[in-house]
Amino acid sequence: MKKTILITGAAGFLGSHLCDRFIKEGFKVLGMDNLITGDKKNIEHLFQLEDFEFYHHDVTKFVHVPGNVDYIMHFASPASPIDYLKIPIQTLKVGSLGTHNLLGLAKEKGARFMIASTSEIYGDPLVHPQKETYYGNVNTIGPRGVYDEAKRFQESITMAYHSFHGLDTRIARIFNTYGPRMRLNDGRVIPAFIGQALRGEDLTVFGDGMQTRSFCYVDDQVEGLYRLLMSDYTHPVNIGNPDEITILDFAQEIIKLTGTDQKIVFKELPKDDPLQREPDITLARELLGWEPKVSRAEGMKITYEYFKSLSKEELEKSEH
Ligand code: NAD
Ligand code: UDP
Repeated sequence: MKKTILITGAAGFLGSHLCDRFIKEGFKVLGMDNLITGDKKNIEHLFQLEDFEFYHHDVTKFVHVPGNVDYIMHFASPASPIDYLKIPIQTLKVGSLGTHNLLGLAKEKGARFMIASTSEIYGDPLVHPQKETYYGNVNTIGPRGVYDEAKRFQESITMAYHSFHGLDTRIARIFNTYGPRMRLNDGRVIPAFIGQALRGEDLTVFGDGMQTRSFCYVDDQVEGLYRLLMSDYTHPVNIGNPDEITILDFAQEIIKLTGTDQKIVFKELPKDDPLQREPDITLARELLGWEPKVSRAEGMKITYEYFKSLSKEELEKSEH
């Protein structure tokens, strides 16, 4: 008998890659999405498969699917600062009500349940690199609080279902991940810089560009998530690439990669933008035998080719 997995946020960037991976592993995949930040195009190639079903549904409303479900991966949520600032209440709801609904479904079906938590639960971290044992430094009432606190609540309610109902749960703390199928206009730094370079605009570095991030290629991320889901570890695990870079150096790398001679312009740093971020992945290495394999140079080349292949209209639409 084939195993069945329900993936929420299936039409988004990570969700669509997860659907591909589980189809490849021989699962029956139920993809659920309300398309608020995702795009059906990301999963259209799966629609003709017998083992794929799509549910156009908002998970903050009661969720039900017929038949057996062995695994649930709850990945629905706006993920880019621009998105969650535009739809703050929906962001809080999908992390809280949505997670509650899906935990209820997991309990009813006896399914293993995984959440897409985030490095944002560490806020603007005072500990570097970030280990799973660090409790974080989040401004609850700041603009990013709607995302960070929804994700922190999501971890708490997931742990409570594990402790009180014996639900089999997994918590992935995902660090900045990139690759094909990101939306050009989602405002995250990689599509933003590549879009600007392709349109011949200056690259907008926020603040002095000395803040750092550590970027993980999507195939590595999916491999880490797959191994965590199949493991028996129920506490949070960081999944990301520890190769840290300042945003200013990264802008320079993009200029080199795209072969353009764009200038860098400096814009105001958004409120509460974390100044440093790098995952400590010792736990993932030990538990899952996992570490990222794709270098930033390789991953960015593939990602650039993807964005270059998009039509001119899409590129113009992405201007903001
Ligand atoms: P994305 O915006 O591409 O995908 C999110 C998907 O969720 C979209 O298709 C959207 O339409 C859907 N969605 C949102 N609210 C919904 C609702 N109420 N009901 C049903 N569907 C809904 O973002 P992504 O980068 O693929 O992120 C996926 C998940 O991973 C998110 O939970 C995000 O918080 C988490 N995450 C991502 C990263 C990253 O770097 N990509 C880092 C940390 C955590
Ligand atoms: N950033 C930037 N210019 C942009 C978009 C983002 O300098 O046009 C910066 C942003 O301020 C942050 C970093 O790039 O310091 C990563 O931003 P992103 O939105 O990709 O992710 P997050 O802040 O959630 O890690």
